[in-house]
Amino acid sequence: MQQTPPGAGPAIAEALLRDLDVAGPRYTSYPTADRFVEAFGAPQYAQALQSRAEGVGQSAAAAPLSLYVHIPFCESVCYYCACNKVVTRQHGRAELYLAALEREIALHVTALGSNQRVSQVHLGGGTPTFLSDRELTGLMGVLKDAFAWTPEAEVSIEVDPRTVDRQRLLHLAALGFNRLSFGVQDFDPDVQRAVHRVQPFEQVRALLAAARESGFRSTNVDLIYGLPQQTPASFLRTIEQVCELRPDRIALYAYAHLPQRFKPQRRIDAALLPPAEQRISMLSAALSQFAGAGYTYVGMDHFALPDDSLAVAKRQGRLHRNFQGYSTQPDCDLIGLGVSAIGKVGASYSQNAKTLDEYYDALEGGRFPVVRGLALTRDDLVRRSVIMALMCQGRLDFESIELAHLIRMRDYFASELEALAPLEASGLVVREPGAIVVTPLGWYFVRRIAMVFDRHLRVDRAREQFSRLI
Ligand code: SF4
Repeated sequence: MQQTPPGAGPAIAEALLRDLDVAGPRYTSYPTADRFVEAFGAPQYAQALQSRAEGVGQSAAAAPLSLYVHIPFCESVCYYCACNKVVTRQHGRAELYLAALEREIALHVTALGSNQRVSQVHLGGGTPTFLSDRELTGLMGVLKDAFAWTPEAEVSIEVDPRTVDRQRLLHLAALGFNRLSFGVQDFDPDVQRAVHRVQPFEQVRALLAAARESGFRSTNVDLIYGLPQQTPASFLRTIEQVCELRPDRIALYAYAHLPQRFKPQRRIDAALLPPAEQRISMLSAALSQFAGAGYTYVGMDHFALPDDSLAVAKRQGRLHRNFQGYSTQPDCDLIGLGVSAIGKVGASYSQNAKTLDEYYDALEGGRFPVVRGLALTRDDLVRRSVIMALMCQGRLDFESIELAHLIRMRDYFASELEALAPLEASGLVVREPGAIVVTPLGWYFVRRIAMVFDRHLRVDRAREQFSRLI
């Protein structure tokens, strides 16, 4: 049975909040990207691709690929930004980048063969719509020539509303994009000024209407709570406006203020950030309003209308999680293209160089620009299955893990099952004889539950580098 938070959301006691508001990963992968090592580089990545090409190992080798393409350029900086981007107004810089991307794609075709099927393509950034229509046409042409796209492929793009108009959306639809994700964050003018990203509600409303007319299958709106100048009242207004727009999906993220790590955040006045109690009331209000407006709570950060494929997958227990968050795509290999892009091939993760110079150098030398990654151990694979079951199904059936990994849950995870006791006492999970079930309250803290099974957290991890849970 799927577990979802009730519409109004359970009341969260302050003591519980204090206990659980610790730093933790978002588990878009396990192990998380901070565990990647330089010992896994271009040669290891090439080996992983070769194993896929030869059909070695898991069934994922036969499944269609997922592609992620990172476009790093942005015209101006948003102060909350934690992405890998290059802020520039010189659009000419895209030309060199696209030539490098083309080389990187060609290296993959050489390694994998030219008939690799692709069922999911995502352009993220940065700002993918920094590229002109002509440049996007060229890039999509290269990707279509290099891979065999399945007819039902999900093709999505992140859109900065300030960079597009109705005509550009029509062009994106003509290129084959069928999903759009708009970065909104907040509609309040004071908040928008405080984060240096001004985009009026009317503009986004017109774009969403245009996206629907253009035939996009699904629209998403990204929101962030915990931004400077936000109050529960102002954020409630934003939530109401988003409900009025009625996108198919909503992603709601907690702002993580880590100015030591992310330079743009140093321009945010910490005194203007809402305190923890206000963040919680914003989250509660959002959960309650979205449920009231008919949205399904998919899981951490994500909401979807009941007929959206993500909500359907949730109901049917077919949810998955990848580097972009929740997904309907089965566990498939992901090719990350572009500077800083992360990929997953077989039992390995890889990440490209984070600077343009390094990225260009590698490709000019005919090498994959992979600079770090990880070959998963057997233990990593077991724990990944456990963590993804908790995050995606809200339920961990011992038998399925035991059959898939040939372990005995009670022996293998004896200390973890014991460590769940305080979370059970707090009402976040129920330990049944052959299963662990996440409660409606537990869905708010599902990554806190997942953390119990994260072996790397117990070893040598600097916990401060993760964002707070709430
Ligand atoms: S939030 Fe997005 S648009 Fe803003 S600077 Fe970061 S990557 Fe660019």
